[in-house]
Amino acid sequence: MPSEKAKDNKALTATCAACNKTVSTETAVGLSGFENGLQRIFAVCVPCANKGWRPPGFKGIYVPRPV
Ligand SMILES: [Zn+2]
Repeated sequence: MPSEKAKDNKALTATCAACNKTVSTETAVGLSGFENGLQRIFAVCVPCANKGWRPPGFKGIYVPRPV
């Protein structure tokens, strides 16, 4: 069955909060941080996350993963 949803999923992109590049959500991770006092999820590409970029107020643990 043709699925419009599947097509949309393929095109899912995120803007890396660190380098501002548009990346596929498959090569990005969501890191929880704070902006203006509010908790939110920052999309960060895997290379930036592996390099150590963390959003402000990040308290979680990030386990580097292969790019
Ligand atoms: Zn990046």
